[in-house]
Amino acid sequence: MRSTRQAQENPELMEAQSTIQQHVALDSDAATENLALTNRRRLLGLAVAAGFSLCTTDLFGQERNADQEGPPQEETKPEATKPSDKEKTAAQETKTKDVSEMTEEEVNSYEPKYNKLNTEEKYVIQKKGTERAFTGKYTDTKAEGTYICRQCNQPLYRSNDKFHSNCGWPSFDDEIPGAVTRALDADGYRIEILCSNCGGHLGHVFEGEQFTVKNTRHCVNSISMKLINKNKDLPEVIKSRETLLKEWTEAQEKKREEADKATKQTESGNGR
Ligand SMILES: [Zn+2]
Repeated sequence: MRSTRQAQENPELMEAQSTIQQHVALDSDAATENLALTNRRRLLGLAVAAGFSLCTTDLFGQERNADQEGPPQEETKPEATKPSDKEKTAAQETKTKDVSEMTEEEVNSYEPKYNKLNTEEKYVIQKKGTERAFTGKYTDTKAEGTYICRQCNQPLYRSNDKFHSNCGWPSFDDEIPGAVTRALDADGYRIEILCSNCGGHLGHVFEGEQFTVKNTRHCVNSISMKLINKNKDLPEVIKSRETLLKEWTEAQEKKREEADKATKQTESGNGR
């Protein structure tokens, strides 16, 4: 009490006390973090020693899950209000509009309207989390079809390339060409895989494990994907700004080349 009163009477003392309290809190956080890191490394070491490459962020997963804001929410389904014919047509026009026909202004103001994600999906796809092993929807699925990106609908994997690895996550030994980007993981040694359109986190890729002839295992979170069964139409890909800009620039270049060609043909025709 006395020290509090003294502190109240002395602003400098109050400030010093507050600083000390902050440092104590920070040190305690850092110690917890270090301990957690040491434990993870120990577990990783054991897994590697056992000759098995895991999607090890699962070890982080439970811990990170604890930080989530409340329990995962059910996917919020849009209200059953039917869009009017006018709205429907407008939406279809925007969606199916040929990139080459878009104006520069339209391209610059374009904002992708990605599929709505629930808390769990956001945690994995946007925050690079990992769903727990053996809990994903597609771990043992053998149904034929195409696995698309949950966030943007880009086709990522074919069921023909799926194999049973018993690692606890869906495994594929090949991707659909151009669909998956590889990047060095933040941990500095694993290779992260991302959707090449929207950049959504998919999982990790491992090589040299001898599971299949292709010797590659894409270890993918079920939650990052959606399986579209064989014979069903694939939904339209929701292009990212980068994808749209790239396609538009290519289309503009093509148009210019064609125009140049036409001009040259006219000139050579006139020269005869
Ligand atoms: Zn995507």
